[in-house]
Amino acid sequence: MPSIVEVRTAVVPIASAISNAYIDFSKMTASVVAVISDVVRDGKPVVGYGFNSNGRYAPDGLLKERFVPRLQEADLGGEIEPELAWAAMMSNEKPGGHGERSVAVGTLDMALWDLAAKIADKPLYRLIADKWRGGKVDEKVFVYAAGGYYYPGKGRTELQDELKSYLDRGYRVCKIKIGNDLDEDLARIDAAIEVVGSPQNLAVDANGRFDLATATAYAEALKPYNLFWYEEAGDPLDFELQAALAEIYPHPMATGENLFSHQDARNLLRYGGMRPEKDWLQIDCALSYGLVEYKRFLDLLPDYGFKPTNCIPHGGHQMSLNIAAGLGLGGNESYPDVFAPFGGFADGTRVEDSWVGLPESPGVGFEEKANLIEVMRRSTETG
Ligand code: MG
Repeated sequence: MPSIVEVRTAVVPIASAISNAYIDFSKMTASVVAVISDVVRDGKPVVGYGFNSNGRYAPDGLLKERFVPRLQEADLGGEIEPELAWAAMMSNEKPGGHGERSVAVGTLDMALWDLAAKIADKPLYRLIADKWRGGKVDEKVFVYAAGGYYYPGKGRTELQDELKSYLDRGYRVCKIKIGNDLDEDLARIDAAIEVVGSPQNLAVDANGRFDLATATAYAEALKPYNLFWYEEAGDPLDFELQAALAEIYPHPMATGENLFSHQDARNLLRYGGMRPEKDWLQIDCALSYGLVEYKRFLDLLPDYGFKPTNCIPHGGHQMSLNIAAGLGLGGNESYPDVFAPFGGFADGTRVEDSWVGLPESPGVGFEEKANLIEVMRRSTETG
């Protein structure tokens, strides 16, 4: 009858000098949580860890004031059951207006799944495949290298060097930022294609920067390339803009990383003109109430003609990699060089032609990533 003994939170820097078209990351933080159980293995309590992906600041106040106390006081009936925990954490929360409470809940949800899988002595992807997919697991997951950020003093030569290093590490598909200046971005795209070999190996990401006129101008300019995808052209909640682009841009588009609930994601499917035969959905469970909520999102996909294979989550973290392998998503983002130590997969993971395998260790696999588990343990004083 496992139960939760204590939940600890910490705030750690995830800062770097990079920027996209919308924000710079020099002051970015992340929350780390440790959910400590009364289960003892090898003389130590089994601990589940979570963190809040990247791109949103540490939701430390929300965790401490509401969600951790509710989780600690919840009656989970002697099981580590993330769905029950989710309901307890969301008690006394009104619907809608998701704000960043979804980030706080997503962080705790990650730790609860990590803990549940560790107690079950299974990798998380096998636990969730057993629970929801008849045990079927994808042994390999498609990943692409997300980078190509704007950086002070970084020119096209440096961009090419960065992309070459991703190819050297086994990636085939790479992504770069766009959105500062169309002519300059087209020159960057040409430079990037010289390295990655084909427009089909290059995705571009505007980070929600554009109004309709600018998004349209970029769409027209990008059209002849037929890139891997054109990501988050306009504001994440401007579904009309997204739908208008789908009318004029015939190639794949991707969006959804800043939609933080299944209801918001459903509005994208209802009103955003997304095309199941070519477009990609990037909802990041860690930012949007965790896997319990992400499963609700996956369950509504068929109503709109989509499949899990349309999903390549934002965030480049091991949690979404587990979901991708366990529930058959289309892939996962990867940050080979940024957001360390949170970005990236288990140490020794080999990327081959933009595909990776997963470790067999129990839980999410944080213990297989030395620099990450070190930060998690040190910041939460859990060993
Ligand atoms: Mg993006």
